[in-house]
Amino acid sequence: MIELNLRVLPLEAWAPARARPLCIFGPCSAESREQVLGTAHAIAGRHPTCLFRAGVWKPRTRPGTFEGVGVAGLAWLRAVREETGLAVCTEVARAEHVEACLEHGIDALWIGARTTVNPFAVQEIADALAGVDIPVFVKNPINPDLELWAGALERVHARGIARLGAIHRGFQALDNRPFRNTPRWELAVELKTRCPELPVLCDVSHIAGSPGVIPWVAQRAIDLAMDGWMIETHIDPASARSDAGQQVTPDQLDTILAGLTMKSRTVDARDRDELEDLRSRIRALDDAVLELLARRLEISKAIGRYKQAHSVTVLQVDQWRKNLEEYTARGEALGLGAAFIEALYDCLHEESIRRQTAFQQEPAPEAQG
Ligand code: PEP
Ligand code: MN
Repeated sequence: MIELNLRVLPLEAWAPARARPLCIFGPCSAESREQVLGTAHAIAGRHPTCLFRAGVWKPRTRPGTFEGVGVAGLAWLRAVREETGLAVCTEVARAEHVEACLEHGIDALWIGARTTVNPFAVQEIADALAGVDIPVFVKNPINPDLELWAGALERVHARGIARLGAIHRGFQALDNRPFRNTPRWELAVELKTRCPELPVLCDVSHIAGSPGVIPWVAQRAIDLAMDGWMIETHIDPASARSDAGQQVTPDQLDTILAGLTMKSRTVDARDRDELEDLRSRIRALDDAVLELLARRLEISKAIGRYKQAHSVTVLQVDQWRKNLEEYTARGEALGLGAAFIEALYDCLHEESIRRQTAFQQEPAPEAQG
């Protein structure tokens, strides 16, 4: 596993009242003082510990669409804090955005998906944050590149940001249906595995893309022990100047939240024996699987020696394709999906080829040129 060595403050240490799930609610964009404050008042009564969001600089796909109200919106966010007590946050994409937010006393910042893809832009933001103690969230890049996401977190962290979090907002795929941005939960899980202290939130709205899909995404985020949600909430979604199709009213938000099942991260003592029993059965099977794999790969090595002795190519593509077909059919009969069997055997075949060729020395570095 590639380690991600970030010395971040655990959520409980910096947001005890807000911790788990850490909720970020508010409109996609700040559009007017009335819209921002109206939405904030409607949210604040029921969610006094949430962070209130509103984008003031909007990265839009096409020019000529609403690109945000700019610095004027920061004053409205400040008014939200003064009138409702909610902490406020917004998206930054450039150093000057960071500076304006710090001048206006914004409580937290996030870096958007379109910015995370660009290491120059992230570095510029990180440099502007040097010596500043403010929570920063980094959304995943648009493309499913975990290293790019991790790299952006590292750049911000290296400038001294310890109250750091990641936000999974889904990724662009060829076909995103039924989502707007396809979730890649395994990448969020991998990030958390590499750095367990790092809060990893789920931007439910930008994954879902429509209110009907929000409950499913929000529930999946809970089930995967994610640390919080961002859900776009607007006093009048139909009139929103950005992302009108995915925002919900504060009332809809509450209905959605009421329908979710919260899950415990720890196992109740009562249930522990049953779970431990199941886990020990899995461990025993995994042990047997590992032993079988080792035996199987030993045979790969013998096959490699045979092929070498008889001047036969290591790659026998027809044989491999035939095996894969048979294994997929056999796997499906056992209730194992084709994609899983393919991934498993791709991995095994790769290792098998590596072993069959291992006795041939790689060229020494000095052989180059
Ligand atoms: C947003 O939060 O409104 C936004 C633009 O999100 P993303 O960067 O995830 O597209
Ligand atoms: Mn949005």
